Amino acid sequence: MSAMPRKRHVDAESAVPRAIAVESSSRAIEHSRPSVQPSPGQGRVPELAASRAPYEDAFDAALRPRSFDEYIGQRRVVDNLKVFVEAARRRGEALDHVLFCGPPGLGKTTLAHLIATALGVTLRPVGAPAIEHKGTLASYLTSLGERDVLFLDEIHRLQPVVEEYLYPAMEDYRIEIPVGEGPAAQLIHMALPRFTLVGATTRTGLLTSPLRDRFGIVLRLDYYSPVELAEIVRRSALRLQVEVSEAACHTIGQRARGTPRIANRLLRRVRDFAEVERSGAIEEPYCGRWLDRLGVDRLGLDDMDRALLRCVIERFDGGPVGVESLAAAVSEESDTIEDVYEPYLIQEGFLSRTPRGRVATRRAYQHLGLPEPVLTAPGQQRLL
Ligand code: ADP
Repeated sequence: MSAMPRKRHVDAESAVPRAIAVESSSRAIEHSRPSVQPSPGQGRVPELAASRAPYEDAFDAALRPRSFDEYIGQRRVVDNLKVFVEAARRRGEALDHVLFCGPPGLGKTTLAHLIATALGVTLRPVGAPAIEHKGTLASYLTSLGERDVLFLDEIHRLQPVVEEYLYPAMEDYRIEIPVGEGPAAQLIHMALPRFTLVGATTRTGLLTSPLRDRFGIVLRLDYYSPVELAEIVRRSALRLQVEVSEAACHTIGQRARGTPRIANRLLRRVRDFAEVERSGAIEEPYCGRWLDRLGVDRLGLDDMDRALLRCVIERFDGGPVGVESLAAAVSEESDTIEDVYEPYLIQEGFLSRTPRGRVATRRAYQHLGLPEPVLTAPGQQRLL
C-alpha cells in the first residue's frame, strides 16, 4: 500500500470555529461515505459487503459485545488492551491515544465502546469525513469530559488542515481558537480535558506519519477464524432469540469472510429464509442452501468477489491489472475494492498484488473452474 505524502495548505476560512456545541454522544457515528451500490447486471447482494450500511448502526449496536469478556477472538489485542485500560484506570489518568487498523467489520468500533465502558467514561463517536473544518473538531474536543473517549472512524479521511489542528490537542491537550476578524483577530489558547483519541482506519498506509506517531497504542485486527465466527453467530442468535443448530453456526462461520459483521448479516438473512420457508429454526442442510441462494459460496466469496476475479482472468488475461482499470471494468469504486474486497482475496490467496498490479493466482482459476494459463519457465509468460 503506497503512503502518498499529503500536501499541506492552510485554509484561512476554516480557521474560524463554528458554534461550540455537539449533539448527544449516544447517536450513531456520522458517516458520509457512500454505501456500496450494486453494479448493473452483477446481481450482487450489496448488503453482504463488509462496510457498514447506514441502516445497520442500530443492528450492529444491538449485537455488540458489552464487555471485553464477551468479545470473541483477537486475543492478543484484547489482552493487551485490558492491561493498558486497567493501568490507566488505577492511575486515574486518560488512556494513551489508541489506533485500530484493519478491514471493515472486524470490531474496531466495538473495541472503542469497550474501552470507554471499562474506563467508565463517555464515548463520542464521529466519522472523520463529517469533520469538515477545524471548528467542527474544536466543538467535539471542547465538549469532552475528563478522560472521555473521542472515537474518530475512518481517520485516514481526515482533512489535512483538520488533522494538523488535532496534533496539539493530542499531544498537549490544548487548541487555539481564533476570535474576531481582520487585524484585531486574536488566538485564544484553550486547555482541553485529558482525553483519549481512539482512531480507526481500514487503510493504515494512507495515514501520515505525524498522525500515526501520535498514537501511543497501535493495534491491528486480523480476520477471524471460522470457529470464532461460529461462536459469534451462536451468541448473536441467542440475543436475537433465533434457534440455530451447531452445524448451521459453523456453516455461517465458514462463509463469513473472516468478518463478524458479515457473520451477523448472514445470520439475519438465513433467519428470513428459516421463517418463511421452514419452522423458523436455522438448520442444515437448509442453511448452506440458503447461503448458496444468497450467492455466498463455500469459501465465503460473494458475487462481487467472483466478478472481480473473473474480470482479472478473462478481461485482463489474469493480470497484472491496476486497481483503477479493475474498478472501471466492474463498475465499482476503487476505494471499495481496496478497502473491502481485495484484502480478503489476497489473504485467502486468490489474488496477489505486484508492483505492476493485481494478478489472479492459481487458486482463483481453480475456484472459478477456469483453465489455468500455461507458464513457460524462464520468462513466466502466459501461453493463451
Ligand atoms: P468495525 O468498526 O471494525 O467496522 P464493528 O465494531 O462495527 O466493526 O463490528 C461490526 C459488528 O460485528 C458489530 O455489530 C459487533 O457486534 C460485531 N463484532 C465485531 N467484533 C466482534 C467480536 N470480536 N465478537 C463479537 N461480535 C463482534
